[in-house]
Amino acid sequence: MSGVIDDIFAGLEDDDAREREFVQTFAALMPDVELYLLKADGDGLSPVSGGDLEDRFSAADIQAVKEAAEPLFFADRQGRAMIGLVVEELEAVLLTWPPMGDCSSCRALTATMIPNCTAHVLLLMEQKLVRTENEQLQREIKVLNYQHHELIEHNHRQYLLIKEKDRNYAKNLESEIAARTEDLERANEELREASRLKSEFLANMSHELRTPMNAIIGFSDLLMDTELNPEQAEYVNTVKQSGDGLLGLINDILDFAKIEAGKLDIVSEPLSLVEIVKNVAAMFMKPANDKEIKLNCLIDERLPGVFLGDGNRLKQILVNLVGNAMKFTSRGGVTMTVEQVKGQDDGVMIRFMVADTGIGISVEQQGAIFEKFTQADGTITRRFGGTGLGLAITCQLVSLMGGRVYLTSAPGQGSTFCFTIKLRLPAATDKTIEIGGQSGETAADKSFSLRVLLVEDNLVNQRLATIMLKKAGCEVVAAGDGLLALKQLKKERFDLILMDMQMPNMDGLEATASIRAIEASDECNNYAGLGGRPVAIVGLSAHARKEDADRALAAGMDDFLTKPIVRSKLLAVLAAAAGNQKD
Ligand code: ADP
Repeated sequence: MSGVIDDIFAGLEDDDAREREFVQTFAALMPDVELYLLKADGDGLSPVSGGDLEDRFSAADIQAVKEAAEPLFFADRQGRAMIGLVVEELEAVLLTWPPMGDCSSCRALTATMIPNCTAHVLLLMEQKLVRTENEQLQREIKVLNYQHHELIEHNHRQYLLIKEKDRNYAKNLESEIAARTEDLERANEELREASRLKSEFLANMSHELRTPMNAIIGFSDLLMDTELNPEQAEYVNTVKQSGDGLLGLINDILDFAKIEAGKLDIVSEPLSLVEIVKNVAAMFMKPANDKEIKLNCLIDERLPGVFLGDGNRLKQILVNLVGNAMKFTSRGGVTMTVEQVKGQDDGVMIRFMVADTGIGISVEQQGAIFEKFTQADGTITRRFGGTGLGLAITCQLVSLMGGRVYLTSAPGQGSTFCFTIKLRLPAATDKTIEIGGQSGETAADKSFSLRVLLVEDNLVNQRLATIMLKKAGCEVVAAGDGLLALKQLKKERFDLILMDMQMPNMDGLEATASIRAIEASDECNNYAGLGGRPVAIVGLSAHARKEDADRALAAGMDDFLTKPIVRSKLLAVLAAAAGNQKD
């Protein structure tokens, strides 16, 4: 028997832990009850020691217990009362030997207690398991909490790292943007400087070119007024025409540079459309007669007499279009039409048309000719000359005046260039409106007995202006720069000072400022030519920019003439000075 028990205990392994626990718990609860737990695989467990178990029950007894639905009472082989029952949870049979007395109530009680105790033990075990599991869960929760905490810590560290990275990235980005902005600003500055240098270069070139042009055109004019034989007259005429052409080209280039630099301002002054159109027609009458083509003007009678706009620029546009029309027409004629399209509250929409019966322009070439330096056909330059700048400038000027240029043309039939611009009407309160440019023409043949101080460093131009002034009846004293002019003013008074702007030692602006300062102070007592009424000063410059005229007026000059000196404009200046003299 002890062999069986040994075998039983020897077989106890971890697998039997639950059964052993059951037996121990049960034995602790009911110490008086001997018990034996027989597992389904035939092994048995029991705290009971001693005694031969096989002597106590038979296999048939076990079978009977297994088959009974309720705890089963029976007597073992030694006649001791036993209670057997199936413990399903453990897949085992529990055999007990309770110390039952003879009283039947004791037996009944025992019979109830054994299954209850079994259930109780199982419950305790269940509770313990739950507790263990609970503890396990708590441990797991702790571990999870720890891991969670670790994770949060890790994430936080990552977050800080990323934030740091972001901060560095942002910093780098910022410095990169700052560097790029600096580069762009520098590039911009360089561009501005390049543009300024270009404008300055163009202005200087224009100045340098205009200075000799002044002499060429002026002296050709003077020469034409002298006795010439036909051959000489033809030569001088050619020189004059070439000079005019060259001057037109210089003006075009300067205009284009101004437009590109956004520095071309459109002024708003009183103008007469009829006058402008008639003037342009008059300019081209002789070439038209020479070419034996007709030049017609159709002017809408409804047009108001005075508009506000830029008369000079409008004239430039018309001269350009009529000039082209004349150039490309060899028979038939050119017609200039001006009509009012519609009146609006703040002005009138005017349409200008220049139609010719010339060579025409093919559809393919029509788009390109408005580009700068573009001509319809390369052979045109050789046949007709020109630079291809005229239409580009025309378009820009029209657009600055709020309009557009349109073209319809057919090769061999002729072309019509049309543009509309909006011109403002003077306010009803502007009673007396003087239209510019007229006074010069009326002064054409007059003689002026004026004393003129001519301040000019270029000897050729000094000589030219002197002759022009003398021809107009003036007495001329010449000075080579501003300092010499001041010296002259110490000695005598003049009715008019014609002051070149660019001179060595003291330029025209400085000299004018000095003269005005002297006039306003007691120092004028040292100058016979200054004091009393301010002397009239008119600037002379080969610079044709508006800013030059503005600077001249700001320095204290009364007017400004550009070189080459146009005779009619010089006469207008003289007329104004003579008018002042009378007042
Ligand atoms: P330019 O006349 O100095 O060459 P423009 O810009 O005034 O420059 O004209 C560009 C080109 O357009 C001319 O060279 C010519 O080919 C064409 N064009 C302009 N006007 C006419 C016209 N009335 N008839 C035929 N072709 C013209």
